[in-house]
Amino acid sequence: MADRLTASLHEKLTNRLKFYEDLGIKLFYRTLTPSSEARSGSLSSILEANAPARNFAAQISETPVPTNSPYEEPLPKNPAKPVISTAPRVLSSPQAPQKIEIFPRAPGISLFDSLDRIPNDNLLKVREDLGECTRCKLHRTRKTIVFADGNPKAELIFVGEGPGHDEDIQGLPFVGRAGKLLNQMIEAMGLQRKDVYICNVVKCRPPENRLPERDEIEQCSPFLLRQLDVISPKVIVCLGACAAQTLLQTNRGISHFRGQWLEFRGHKLMATYHPAYLLRNPAAKSEVWKDLQKVMSVLGLEVKKGRATESGKPS
Ligand code: URA
Repeated sequence: MADRLTASLHEKLTNRLKFYEDLGIKLFYRTLTPSSEARSGSLSSILEANAPARNFAAQISETPVPTNSPYEEPLPKNPAKPVISTAPRVLSSPQAPQKIEIFPRAPGISLFDSLDRIPNDNLLKVREDLGECTRCKLHRTRKTIVFADGNPKAELIFVGEGPGHDEDIQGLPFVGRAGKLLNQMIEAMGLQRKDVYICNVVKCRPPENRLPERDEIEQCSPFLLRQLDVISPKVIVCLGACAAQTLLQTNRGISHFRGQWLEFRGHKLMATYHPAYLLRNPAAKSEVWKDLQKVMSVLGLEVKKGRATESGKPS
């Protein structure tokens, strides 16, 4: 038993280190030894995941999705999450937006329910109000505030967690390796990056890409909320547990509600896995692709039936 626990802990640590490496942090070890590479067994699949010649749909494998990811599940060990234990509201179908409580909601007003829409708000005002923000400790280590990228009139918004190393330098969300995969996901939907709006829960890079902490989320998420209110998209896609748990005000693991239509301030919300998680777990791409196809059908984008082929076109 002790051996099995050690092995599983070892695998979790290896995965976590690889995740950090995906995000550009390589301070934990000098080199990735052949043996550790062999243990993780995923360098080639990560490279493959980023191969520009093949699109997202073509990368999908039929391998079952791992349920225990150090990145997506279970996150709530972080003591600093936003108000916890209210539950996502599930829409029974995107066409019938009645609210069904699948989990008991905590009594009282949630972080976001209490915030009214600001009349005549616009993105310029949101950016101006954010200013050269020093509201939380992330300002001390950030290089650049990463506000957003994409189309301010988009029908589809992707919300990530927070900027990483590349984003911090370039001032744009999702421009690193996870961003390249997100671009492929967007293209697989028949869209381009300029058609959608992309932002994050926090606008400054957490040091060493740690999870954003509760106070940081509380200071920053009102600006995210204003962005969402101003753009008023048809669909919000939460990339990963941090975005989903923040907007839905829950500490439930993302696998409890991933792929279901949920509701956020009158918008349809779909939570799916974070692209950085997909870099670590390419097998989960097929689940994400199913989620994105649901989004496509609500947006009126053509959903091709059949299995993805090498060319990326479903057969
Ligand atoms: N991961 C995120 O969640 N957001 C980014 O902008 C980049 C990586």
